[in-house]
Amino acid sequence: MSVELLGFNIDTYSFDEAVNKAKELIDGQKVSQVVTINPEMFEYSSKDNEFSNIVKEAEMVIPDGVGVKIALKINGHNVDRIPGIDFAYKLLEKAAINNIPVAIIGAKEDIITKAIENLTEKISGLNIIYYHNGYFSDDEEIYNEINAKSPKLILVAMGSPRQEQFIYNAKKVLKPALMVGIGGSLDVWSGAVKRAPRIYQILGLEWLYRTACQPERIKRIFPTLPLFILKSMRDRYVK
Ligand code: UDP
Repeated sequence: MSVELLGFNIDTYSFDEAVNKAKELIDGQKVSQVVTINPEMFEYSSKDNEFSNIVKEAEMVIPDGVGVKIALKINGHNVDRIPGIDFAYKLLEKAAINNIPVAIIGAKEDIITKAIENLTEKISGLNIIYYHNGYFSDDEEIYNEINAKSPKLILVAMGSPRQEQFIYNAKKVLKPALMVGIGGSLDVWSGAVKRAPRIYQILGLEWLYRTACQPERIKRIFPTLPLFILKSMRDRYVK
């Protein structure tokens, strides 16, 4: 099931349902795209038609940040938020159990290698058959390298909108697989960036913690987050 928010259909899965749906897509016959949507992506899509279409055509759109959860609530929908990083980690665990080959693309070279080292240590049986850092300009070359290995789960951590564009274009050229945009997750898995303590996560205040640690992020929250909430209210009450 999905609900509409500012022109997009957002899936209303619980965490476990989303993981099961992703497993179905991994076993499917085409390249599928998961977008973990946040307020910045709504904002960007309002200015960029191409990006907006990418989100509309994605096979799964799950609400990542607390901002999207609040906006959905304003519009009368009580939907679980599904942090992209937790979702992706669960998919890696599933992949390990089911012997699904994985590719990971994104972040700086030392970050991705450290993240992979940590992940393979934590998740027994994890089979990462291909990885590449996220700083390249020849996408074709990377698609060819991926196709030569045939992974079934591909995590792409290049930030938005780059990762969504990379995944969307891959739909035309890659063999069937599930591709998920995971933003800054490799930075966290490598240990370079600390995730907010559990209490912040439970209260939906990860953004506050992250902004306190990296004050330069304030530009990403203001005015995007309040504007996004206002637009959701207008969508609910003024149309
Ligand atoms: N990144 C990348 N290629 C680029 C630009 C960024 O691989 O051309 C990586 C960057 O190193 C970081 C991630 O993408 O690991 C983006 O992190 P960000 O915190 O922006 O992600 P988000 O806030 O979207 O989760």
